[in-house]
Amino acid sequence: MVPAGARCATHAQVAAVDVCQRCGRFLCGDCIELVEDDSFCADCAARVNVPGSKLAKAGLVVTGLSWLAFGGFAFGYRTPLFLIGLVLVPGPGALAALTIAVMEWRRMKAGLSAARGRRWVVATFLFATPLLLLSVAMIAFAAFVFFGLIASERVES
Ligand SMILES: [Zn+2]
Ligand SMILES: [Zn+2]
Repeated sequence: MVPAGARCATHAQVAAVDVCQRCGRFLCGDCIELVEDDSFCADCAARVNVPGSKLAKAGLVVTGLSWLAFGGFAFGYRTPLFLIGLVLVPGPGALAALTIAVMEWRRMKAGLSAARGRRWVVATFLFATPLLLLSVAMIAFAAFVFFGLIASERVES
């Protein structure tokens, strides 16, 4: 990680032992600032160590609720009302979760939100994307069946 003979960027007479994970500056033992087990220089540590945003977790919560709605409507299916719920609730829920995740990802890239929220955002992407695809497929299928019914009724009458 640190080339042989590298010196601390601030203390030229001291050997470097690590590199700042953000700006790449060489650091001696005195200059290392640990944030979540990663080494940073003092300047970068101040920028990286911003408070986490609750949005990151909110995205995953919305994803979970959307999946619950999907499961509830799918397994509790009794009436057409459930079918409408199955088609109309989980998709927009997943879309909202993905929107939150993208917003949060941008905030992290801009240094406005703590990078440790990344796992929540990644989990949101992983779980909300399949649900969104599933919902789009269901909506397409429902539309197909619906317009198929209308078309067949026209033929009969
Ligand atoms: Zn730095
Ligand atoms: Zn130093």
